Amino acid sequence: MLSLPIEIDAVKGFLDPDEGAALYHAARSAAPLGPCLEIGGYCGKSAVYLGRACQEKGSTLFSVDHHRGSEENQPGWGYHDPDLWDHKADAMDTLPFFRETIRQAALEETVIPIVGRSEQVGRLWATPLALLFIDGGHTHDAAFADYDLWSPHVMPGGLLAIHDVFPDPKDGGRPPYEVYLKAVASGVFEDLAAVKSLRILRRG
Ligand code: SAH
Ligand code: MG
Repeated sequence: MLSLPIEIDAVKGFLDPDEGAALYHAARSAAPLGPCLEIGGYCGKSAVYLGRACQEKGSTLFSVDHHRGSEENQPGWGYHDPDLWDHKADAMDTLPFFRETIRQAALEETVIPIVGRSEQVGRLWATPLALLFIDGGHTHDAAFADYDLWSPHVMPGGLLAIHDVFPDPKDGGRPPYEVYLKAVASGVFEDLAAVKSLRILRRG
């Protein structure tokens, strides 16, 4: 049973509770194989679900984010939150919020933030992953770079989760959906589950 040590609705973020539960169960099944990694930590919502599963299985979650926000989080865009503005840096800064969420959820020994651009970290990464969750930048270049750089690190039998997959263009942007199609067409990943805009695939 999923029980979280924190009031998850109070954490800022873009994850539906049903999607969070699906992530938690996916991570519970995968975490015994090795570490999990998410791209796109924001204020820690998905990290609580994934991290809780990792904690229960004695695994680790890496969370990669430059914490300066995606395009749509910038001032003037639809998903801008002025509470997250760092006036000294004159930029977004979600890292303090992420850290506080992880502290409140008692996950500081389990969740390791990596503060940097996913492309830069991905080029240097070498550890096989039991689960990869792609929820970072949604531009075409960002979404495809995340898939191309990171998905080869998913170990055989490991899971790939992708957020914001909208088959109908009325519901949202195309790149995560196109990445999902690419993963299925690759023959490397097979569909496992779909919950709202979350897709979970397994590497054969
Ligand atoms: N998973 C989060 C939501 C992530 S929002 C939740 O559950 O609420 C997307 C995040 O991706 C933002 O915090 C943004 O800073 C980050 N991001 C966007 N492009 C990035 C890149 N190229 N490298 C690292 N992080 C990036
Ligand atoms: Mg998302």
